[in-house]
Amino acid sequence: MSVALSRRQAFKVMVGLGGTVATGLLPKTAAAEEEHPAHPVAPADAIAMLYDSTVCTGCKACMPACNEANGLPADTLLSGGIWDMPTGLNAQTKNIIELYQDPKSDEFAFVKKQCMHCLDPACVTGCPFGSLKKSDWGAVTWNSSLCIGCRYCEVACPFEVPQFEWKSWNPQIVKCEFCYDQRLKKDLEPACTAACPTGAVIFGKRVDLLAKAKDRIATAPGKYFEERVYGEHEAGGTQVLYLSSVSFQKIGLPKLGTTSIGHYATKVTSHIYKWLSGPIAVSGVLGFFIRRNWNRHELERLEHEKQSGFPDQL
Ligand code: SF4
Ligand code: SF4
Ligand code: SF4
Repeated sequence: MSVALSRRQAFKVMVGLGGTVATGLLPKTAAAEEEHPAHPVAPADAIAMLYDSTVCTGCKACMPACNEANGLPADTLLSGGIWDMPTGLNAQTKNIIELYQDPKSDEFAFVKKQCMHCLDPACVTGCPFGSLKKSDWGAVTWNSSLCIGCRYCEVACPFEVPQFEWKSWNPQIVKCEFCYDQRLKKDLEPACTAACPTGAVIFGKRVDLLAKAKDRIATAPGKYFEERVYGEHEAGGTQVLYLSSVSFQKIGLPKLGTTSIGHYATKVTSHIYKWLSGPIAVSGVLGFFIRRNWNRHELERLEHEKQSGFPDQL
C-alpha cells in the first residue's frame, strides 16, 4: 500500500502538528528569549519606508518600478494579457497599491502593500530552514537555496505578505526584500521610493522617518487617523511606517498588539518547560496565524483551480 503524501497533504499534516516537527529543528534555548525582546529596539542604522496615504494619488508608478527592479513579469491574468492587474500580493507582485472605498460614503484611500520588514519578523522565526533572515539595515531577505516551499513563513506572517509560486514546477516564496541585492547594496534607494512622483512613499533611516511622520501629525491636527504612526509599535515594530487619514484597519492593516510575536513564543516557553517545549510553544503561537490563514489558502486554491481549470495537486 502506498503511503506517499502529496505536498498539500504533507503541509496539512505539518499544520495539524502545529509545526512541532518543523520548528523542532530549530535550536530554541533560553537565549532565544534574549533574541526576541517584547519590544525590540531598532538599530541606529535601521532603514525604513514611510508611506503617507494622504499624499498617494494611486498613480501606481511604484508597481512597475518594483517589477522591473525585481525582474518580475506583469500579472496580466485578469486583463487578458494586456496590462498589469494584480488583485493582491502574489508571486509576480511584491508591491501593490490597493484602493479602499466606503460604499456608503465618499471615504476612500489608497494603500501600498509590501513586506513590512518587521523588527522581529515572525517569518524568520517560523522558517525551519533559515531561509529568511534579517540582513544589513534590517531588510528581511530570503535565500532560495535554503527554501523548500514549506510555506511556514506564509502562514506565520501577521501581515499575510509571503506569496507562493503556484505556477512554478518548484514553487518557492516571493516577497519584497527592500530591493536588498538589486539596489540597497549598490547604495541606491528602493525602486518604489525612487519612482514615486509625489513623495507618498519615501526612504531613509527609521529614526528619521519616524520623526518626520510625527512632525506631519503635529503640524496637521485632526488630519491623521488616531494621530499615530502605524508600524511604530505593531507586532514589536516594523520598518515600513504608515500615515493615513482613514482607519488603518479599513485600509487593510491588521490590528496587532505591540509585543513581538517571537517574544510571545519564547515567553510561553520559559513558563512551561526549559527545553523541548520551545518548538511547541513557538509553533503554538505561530499556529494561531496558521489557523487564521489556512481558510484563506483554501479559498486561494479553489480560485486558482477555477482559473486554471485543473485541480491543484500541490
Ligand atoms: S508611485 Fe507614489 S503616488 Fe503613485 S501609487 Fe505609488 S506610492 Fe502612490
Ligand atoms: S511582514 Fe511578514 S514577511 Fe515581512 S518581515 Fe514581517 S513577518 Fe516577515
Ligand atoms: S522595496 Fe523594492 S521589492 Fe520592496 S516594494 Fe519597494 S520596489 Fe518592491
